[in-house]
Amino acid sequence: MVRSRLMMKLFLMITVVFSQKPDWIIQAEKMINEQIVVRGVTNQNVLKVLSTTPRHRFVPPEVAKYAYDDNPLPIGEGQTISQPYIVAFMTEILEVDSSHTVLEIGTGSGYQAAVLSPLVEQVYSIEIVKALANRADRTLRKLGYNNITVRWGDGYAGWPEKAPFDRIIGTAAPPKIPPALIDQLKPGGIMVLPVGNKWQELVVVKKSNSGTISKETVLPVRFVPMVHPE
Ligand code: SAH
Repeated sequence: MVRSRLMMKLFLMITVVFSQKPDWIIQAEKMINEQIVVRGVTNQNVLKVLSTTPRHRFVPPEVAKYAYDDNPLPIGEGQTISQPYIVAFMTEILEVDSSHTVLEIGTGSGYQAAVLSPLVEQVYSIEIVKALANRADRTLRKLGYNNITVRWGDGYAGWPEKAPFDRIIGTAAPPKIPPALIDQLKPGGIMVLPVGNKWQELVVVKKSNSGTISKETVLPVRFVPMVHPE
């Protein structure tokens, strides 16, 4: 009798321990409610992906404890991972679906690519700093993402071998929209990227089915500059 009660207690304790959410999921859910939903992001698919993407695994260990804070964070090589809200907002306005092939310029940590991964068919991502391209590739493979291809290269040229793209997302700011990226956007496609030097705007570029280009600025932003190869 005593023994079976003990067993029952043990069973209950084990159930409680295993049913507890990991701390990072609690932090990610808090991040979504306090930083992202309150600023107007409503797309449920985007919010769900953010709650299951381990942002702390994409930043250096020294700053992992700040991974879910309302800021950009350093990722080494003088670069930064964008603030969670900006990642959410850009992903929402990119209007992706599961059939899409997406090009990302500026892999950085790989976090934005990871957020896109479950929402689309395929992500191609270009990073100009070799050490970051290698590290992001390793992180993504370790975490089991298998529809993201990272390449070390110059985003100004796009990725002609894989073009055209349904969607293009830029996470470094060029002074003007690179013409190669407009060329590599499919008719009916959408590109979202920061544009400008010191003062930047997030720009949404749409290519109509007949190939006409329209541009709309949606938010003042601060991204690292999109640089040219040395
Ligand atoms: N999307 C990233 C954040 C990237 S920060 C993330 O989720 O972590 C911008 C990145 O763009 C930096 O890593 C920078 O090295 C890269 N970059 C700058 N100029 C570039 C270029 N011409 N081509 C490709 N990547 C570039």
